[in-house]
Amino acid sequence: MIKEISEKIKYVTSGENPLSSDVILIYGDKATWVFDVGANDEAFDTIEHLICETLSEKEQNLQNELTGKRDVNIVISHFHRDHMGNLERIAKIPATGNRVNLYVSSYTNRYCKSGNIVDKEITIDDGVKIRIFPMESSHSKGCLCLAVNDEVAFVGDAIYPAYKTIDDESGKMDVCVDKFDNRRDYRKQQKVYNVQHMKSQLEKLKSLDVKKVFLAHEKNPLVRKEIMVVFLERIYNKREAGNPYIIQSDM
Ligand SMILES: [Zn+2]
Repeated sequence: MIKEISEKIKYVTSGENPLSSDVILIYGDKATWVFDVGANDEAFDTIEHLICETLSEKEQNLQNELTGKRDVNIVISHFHRDHMGNLERIAKIPATGNRVNLYVSSYTNRYCKSGNIVDKEITIDDGVKIRIFPMESSHSKGCLCLAVNDEVAFVGDAIYPAYKTIDDESGKMDVCVDKFDNRRDYRKQQKVYNVQHMKSQLEKLKSLDVKKVFLAHEKNPLVRKEIMVVFLERIYNKREAGNPYIIQSDM
C-alpha cells in the first residue's frame, strides 16, 4: 500500500511475508529519491515503474526527450535483506529508463558490491533538502539515515536494538538477529543496546532539526523527534558502569 506523508514524500508500507521494509519515495526537482528498496514484489514494482515510466512518456512524445529523464537515487539504510533484497532485481532492469544511482555505507557496500559510498554526511539541494548521514546503531553496522528538509528523518532500523539469543548451556550470546525476521522464535530473546552507540545516536538525534522520525516496519511509523529522544534516554539511563551493553527482556 502506498501512503502519503506530505506532497513530496510517500512510502510503500512494509510487508511481512516475505519480510520487506518500508520504501520511502521523495520527489525532488531533478530526481526521485528512494530510501530502501524492500524485498517484496510491491516494493519492486513501484521502483521499476519509477525507473521506466518516463521512458514510455518519452516514446509517446519525443519532445519530452530532454526533460523526460529523472534520476532515481536509491539510498540503502543497512545491509539486511528486508531493506535491500530488491537491489538484485533492480540491477537487471534494462538500462533504457531513468538513470539509477545508488548510495550505500562502506559496510553495506561489502554486501551489494556497488554504489557510491557515503561515510560522512552529505547534503543535496534538489528542491527539497536531502541529507544523508551515518548513524551508529545497536541493530546493524553501517547504518545510513536520510533527512528531508526540517520535516522528517528516515532512520530505517537504526534506533532499534539488536536481538540476541543466549545459549542456555554456555551462557554465551549468539548472533544478532532481526526482530522482524518471522522465521525465528523471539520468546527467549533479549533486546541488546550498545551503550556507546546509543550515546552517539542520542547526540545525533538531538542535533537534527527535524520534527519527526520515521521508523521502519511500524504501523504508525512517524514519531515526534522529542518523544523518540525521551524513549531512548529512558533506556540509556539504565546503563551500568563497566557494562558496554543494556540488556532488556522482550516479554
Ligand atoms: Zn528491517
